Amino acid sequence: MRLRNKPWARDFMAEHPDVLLAEPEKLNNGWHTLFGNDHPIHIEVGTGMGQFIIGMALANPNVNYIGIEHFDNVIVSALEKAIEAGKPSNLRLFRANGVDLLKIFHKGEIDRVYLNFSDPWPKTRHEKRRLTHESFLKLYETVLVPGGEIHFKTDNRHLFEYSLVSMSAYGMRLKAVSLDLHAEMPEDNIMTEYEEKFSAKGQPIYRLESQYMN
Ligand code: SAM
Repeated sequence: MRLRNKPWARDFMAEHPDVLLAEPEKLNNGWHTLFGNDHPIHIEVGTGMGQFIIGMALANPNVNYIGIEHFDNVIVSALEKAIEAGKPSNLRLFRANGVDLLKIFHKGEIDRVYLNFSDPWPKTRHEKRRLTHESFLKLYETVLVPGGEIHFKTDNRHLFEYSLVSMSAYGMRLKAVSLDLHAEMPEDNIMTEYEEKFSAKGQPIYRLESQYMN
């Protein structure tokens, strides 16, 4: 746990349980009950400092968003931004590792998974840590509704190629692929912190949308 730089993080997080849930594993009644509506639920695994998920929550009030990040000293920045944004009622954050998704969500509870600028883990021995590894695709499939989707953006060509192969081998349908998202720049694109950083350097941003065939 990286708490060295922000020793105040734990206390600050505990002061805002309405945004950052302390023990999401204990949400026995499910996320729709927590949000108080039946709107679709979209999650981002590896949400970082939260710019994307907060921007999405503000832009799409009829969708519920959950940002998942496994480091306290990172998610606390997302919490600060969520507070600045007025704590949108359709947004929650929590600190967890994506490998624990089944402890946090019921089967078929969510509608879409966002993966943005996921850590590339370039060494083959770390392949299982890549968020588009087969084991993660299986986890997402379990918590997603049938026909649920993954929307993925990255600057990393090797991770993108790997993810295309991994999803294809899993039997997913590729709905959209872009090798230069910013050349098209869809109006509804919400940039992440890493996306701003890499696109400012002139690096192409790769994007795909894939769907489970279950
Ligand atoms: N999505 C943000 C963006 O685009 O600006 C952050 C990108 S950063 C490169 C990747 C983030 O994913 C880091 O904050 C890291 O801690 C988080 N992360 C990596 N693996 C994770 C996992 N298994 N579960 C939860 N978070 C994870």
